[in-house]
Amino acid sequence: MTRRRLSLSDYVNGVTAGDRFVLSQAITLVESRHPDDQVLASQLQQALLPASRSSFRVGITGVPGVGKSTFIESFGTHLNQRGRSLAVLTVDPSSERSGGSILGDKTRMPTLSQSALAYVRPSATGGALGGVAYKTREIILLCEAAGYEVVVVETVGVGQSETEVYQITDFFLLLMLAGAGDELQGIKKGVMELADALLITKADGDNRVAAQRAQREYQNALHLFRPPDSRVPVEVLTCSAQQKEGVEAVWEMMLNYRRRTQASGYFQQKREEQNLRWMHRLLRDYLQHRFWHYPPLVSIRTEIEQQVKAGTLTAQQGAKWLIDSYERGEKL
Ligand code: GDP
Repeated sequence: MTRRRLSLSDYVNGVTAGDRFVLSQAITLVESRHPDDQVLASQLQQALLPASRSSFRVGITGVPGVGKSTFIESFGTHLNQRGRSLAVLTVDPSSERSGGSILGDKTRMPTLSQSALAYVRPSATGGALGGVAYKTREIILLCEAAGYEVVVVETVGVGQSETEVYQITDFFLLLMLAGAGDELQGIKKGVMELADALLITKADGDNRVAAQRAQREYQNALHLFRPPDSRVPVEVLTCSAQQKEGVEAVWEMMLNYRRRTQASGYFQQKREEQNLRWMHRLLRDYLQHRFWHYPPLVSIRTEIEQQVKAGTLTAQQGAKWLIDSYERGEKL
């Protein structure tokens, strides 16, 4: 299917008017690897920056089956019923490798997908440059310009994607199952340390007591961690998205976090640091890309790598050679 070409002002007007069709087109543009699209996408980002109303960016992660989509469906519906709009971006690190996607399917959130106050969109994985969240950050800004008040970024807790999602959101929620060991859940201690809150899912029926026990255990375990940078204590809550129990408490907790961190200045400070880190990352990626694709280097690189592997050239010397020939070439 060929995409209809829109002009910059079509994109800007459509997105700021909250036109979902144009928003989808704009996201496709931002995700495109075509150089012409990238130029237009970059102009669009800049043009939309003033329109980017402040939203609350929430990262949600957990292993497959923990109940992410059921929770987000219930959580989003709760917000919609209170007149708040939300966008859900699903980042799926597995899709690149397997060719299939665990999260990409819109039918995972049928009610939200139909709601006039919600926008659900699977986000493409990074590809050659950068990691899974490479474009997601830019897509968050588009959703904000389109007026969404809460932007949820969902990812499968299976790898380094959690850290990336943490770095582009204001609040990071880790979903956990009761009764399964941490190892079973693939949750590394480092990920727990990033969490602003833990949520034990499926706290209903026979599982209710186990969920409450897990809540106490995690709460105790958290005492061993150093206090969070936000200075807002990390809470452990339970919920049953299926029974719609505990969902409101999660939203209240998030609002409380936002209130406290806005009052302390931490909320803004974190965003400023994220902006700066993002620019540094783009710079690093750009320079790295230029370096490795610089034609004279391509030919000598393999040779130098062989020598470093064989131990006939030190790693330092190898790096110096490559940098020297790059810099010599740049000056020509
Ligand atoms: P995801 O892979 O993390 O998105 O998990 P899903 O939301 O698809 O849920 C996985 C399974 O757990 C599904 O069979 C859901 O019906 C079930 N599930 C999700 N939330 C709840 C809940 O609150 N209570 C119970 N009993 N089951 C749930």
